[in-house]
Amino acid sequence: MKTHHINNKGYYGEYGGAYIPEMLYPNIAQLKEQYLSILGEKSFQEEYQQLLRDYVGRPTPLYFANRLSEKYNTKIYLKREDLCHTGAHKVNNTVGQILLAKRLGKKRIIAETGAGQHGVATATVCALMGMPCFVYMGEIDMQRQAPNVARMKMLGAEVIPSTSGSKTLKDATNDAIRDWINNPEETHYIIGSVVGPHPYPDMVARLQSIISQEIKLQLKEKENRTNPDHIIACVGGGSNAAGAFYHYLDEKDVNLIAVEAAGKGINSGESAATSQLGNDGIIHGSKTLLMQSKDGQITEPYSISAGLDYPGVGPMHAHLFSSKRAEFLSVTDDEAMQAGANLTQLEGIIPAIESAHALAALDQRKFQPKEVVVVNLSGRGDKDLETYMKYFDL
Ligand SMILES: *Cc1c(COP(=O)(O)O)cnc(C)c1O
Repeated sequence: MKTHHINNKGYYGEYGGAYIPEMLYPNIAQLKEQYLSILGEKSFQEEYQQLLRDYVGRPTPLYFANRLSEKYNTKIYLKREDLCHTGAHKVNNTVGQILLAKRLGKKRIIAETGAGQHGVATATVCALMGMPCFVYMGEIDMQRQAPNVARMKMLGAEVIPSTSGSKTLKDATNDAIRDWINNPEETHYIIGSVVGPHPYPDMVARLQSIISQEIKLQLKEKENRTNPDHIIACVGGGSNAAGAFYHYLDEKDVNLIAVEAAGKGINSGESAATSQLGNDGIIHGSKTLLMQSKDGQITEPYSISAGLDYPGVGPMHAHLFSSKRAEFLSVTDDEAMQAGANLTQLEGIIPAIESAHALAALDQRKFQPKEVVVVNLSGRGDKDLETYMKYFDL
């Protein structure tokens, strides 16, 4: 059978692998050798499942959105990752990785963050486990995302400004990697999406796969079928989409729809629609699709939503795009903001602007009245209130 999962060399089709400096070989080799056996351990699964239930608040509801369904004349369910502790799906991954770090005997956690959401999710689990936490963040991002910097500090993390380059996410990632090279024995690096060298993309996808595992059970209960006709998720690096797609990757009756941020328009020069604008290259240790100039310089991405503002996609998504297993759409800032307002007024749910991109797909594409459409609502909009206020003059 043709599979869309990773192969034993760490590739999805031609994408993935581990393109890393030699000094990281031991760290990556240790992870590669141990991640599957640790994730499969009975004691790991018991602790992980218990924390997902009692700390994160899982299972998250699969909510039938009545008024939204009426508007689009199809059956729409929302997978409520916005109700997770800390307000988004990211904590599913950080809870899993901190348990893995403990089993690897690590004493210190590092992470990179752009908008600060992954930094907060990492600082949260470090507080929970009493582990020291160092979060690298571009100096410009620290100014733009001051409330998340304050959250991380309150949670006991040290936030280290990255002052080189454009002072944003990719510089923070470089600094985190440098830290890891200098502290290889004691430190685990928690990456926040399905990006980075193998085994990170697969490891993070597995830790997020609880999303589609729950959708299967919940749809069975509500619709007497495990598979929706369509599942829609936004893609920054691609972790919430990977989790929502995971158990459906090889089930052809389920149409997968990935939504990227078109920013001010695909051809505006201010966009993050990687599948439309990118080509093959290597970023953060894996071969994937990324936005780059002719001479291979990474293009600075743009989206109104900080979580989608990434110049690449994870290798799973590069493969889903090139193999045509998933449909890729792109949604502008304006379309996403309207979709966010629309959900708020029809269902009383203020979505994260990232998630609003997924919702805007409902305006772009027609669905049949009897079809079951699941939209992964990756996060809540509290963190975006200021952006909503400015945009709608509230
Ligand atoms: C970070 C974030 C995203 C984008 O990250 P993925 O790895 O693509 O899921 C999407 N939604 C929310 C709410 C986020 O915080």
